[in-house]
Amino acid sequence: MGGVEVGPWPQKPMAIHNFDVLILGAGAAGLLCAAEAGKRGRRVGIIERADRAGKKILISGGGRCNFTNIHSQPDNFISSNPHFAKSALARYTPADFIALVEKHGIPYHEKTLGQLFCDRSASDITEMLELECRNAGVRTFLNSGIREVRRDAEFVIHTEGAEFRAPVLVVATGGLSIPKMGATALGYDLARQFGLRIQEARPALVPFVLGPKDRKQYCDLAGVSAEVVVATDNQSFREKMLITHRGLSGPSILQVSSYWKKGERIKIDLAPEHDVTAAIRDDKARNIVTARSAFQRILPKRLATRWLDLHEPSDWTNHSLEELEREVHNWTLTPVDTEGYEKAEVTAGGVDTDELSSKTMESRKVPGLFFIGEVVDVTGHLGGHNFQWAWASGAAAGRAV
Ligand SMILES: Cc1cc2nc3c(=O)[nH]c(=O)nc-3n(C[C@H](O)[C@H](O)[C@H](O)COP(=O)(O)OP(=O)(O)OC[C@H]3O[C@@H](n4cnc5c(N)ncnc54)[C@H](O)[C@@H]3O)c2cc1C
Repeated sequence: MGGVEVGPWPQKPMAIHNFDVLILGAGAAGLLCAAEAGKRGRRVGIIERADRAGKKILISGGGRCNFTNIHSQPDNFISSNPHFAKSALARYTPADFIALVEKHGIPYHEKTLGQLFCDRSASDITEMLELECRNAGVRTFLNSGIREVRRDAEFVIHTEGAEFRAPVLVVATGGLSIPKMGATALGYDLARQFGLRIQEARPALVPFVLGPKDRKQYCDLAGVSAEVVVATDNQSFREKMLITHRGLSGPSILQVSSYWKKGERIKIDLAPEHDVTAAIRDDKARNIVTARSAFQRILPKRLATRWLDLHEPSDWTNHSLEELEREVHNWTLTPVDTEGYEKAEVTAGGVDTDELSSKTMESRKVPGLFFIGEVVDVTGHLGGHNFQWAWASGAAAGRAV
């Protein structure tokens, strides 16, 4: 019987691509960096593991992309070095990005507190960035999972079917939030591989989970929201708070979560600038009925009733009312946790800014290696600041590579 020859299959030759600049990640920071570098005549390649560019931009701002904030300034960013972001933010401002948006005729509007959103859809922003990249001659390789990155005379990157080489490598792989959208730890792993320090990553702009007792007392009110001031030990935010099925969310809570550490308390002023008990003091019949109507004038009815039922004073003396007034402005809770990366809008922490030039985002230890966007230890407040950091850090590197 004739045998069948089983031998090594002929190997498919591996494609080799040479560039001046390779960028890992076609997200917000990577795309802007690529366009800037391409415009300066650099041959730029972007390697992206997803099947399309800018997926997170597409889901951002509820599908309308809050692409910047006209009031964005260094105070809106959290970092172990609060000065680091200043230079890049000053050299690529919200006005620069707005000029780009206007050049492409994209309609937008200010929603609140300086937050700019697309009128139509976030895809206006991804299409704009992709067009800028195409016009600048940038090549984007999608569906390209990265297997290995090493540095010989230049950086060498292997994907499944190809080898990429360039003297400059820009890491723009983002943070760990929303793993089901394909977030990976590659940026942090590469920083470690090249000996760069990392500030521990943690979920930020993320809802809180309450403990069983608080949950039982309040979470059946899921959907109720109120404007409050929420504070940790050193930061406070006055915006809406929303009760959820497992805890608390809404802009004020998301903002404060970026500063919160496990085990810490938060304080909530449920009635900012209101003297809630004045109406009870002034009423002849001081009792739970007058108290309820006083609270319901300021807070949503169900929350007012519940909170008061759980904090009803033992009597209605002036002293007890003063105590009740103090409590309504200092409602103290200790969340047991956050909802984690599954629900976090961003990742705080990341590549230690002491490792990078604040002007160019280049590693001080490894010339030619740059980190931009969310993978760096710079985290914006809610309201368009995270994209502003992605654009500003992307531009800083794109103009330097
Ligand atoms: C639901 C949601 C809504 C948001 N809304 C807003 C908003 O309205 N305004 C705002 O300012 N910010 C918003 N953010 C935050 C904002 O999206 C990010 O801060 C911003 O996208 C960070 O840009 P980046 O380029 O650093 O990372 P990303 O935009 O996350 O891009 C990283 C890219 O790298 C790719 N990548 C990752 N790992 C690999 C790998 N191993 N190999 C190859 N490619 C890889 C990813 O697929 C991705 O394309 C939102 C975030 C979320 C999750």
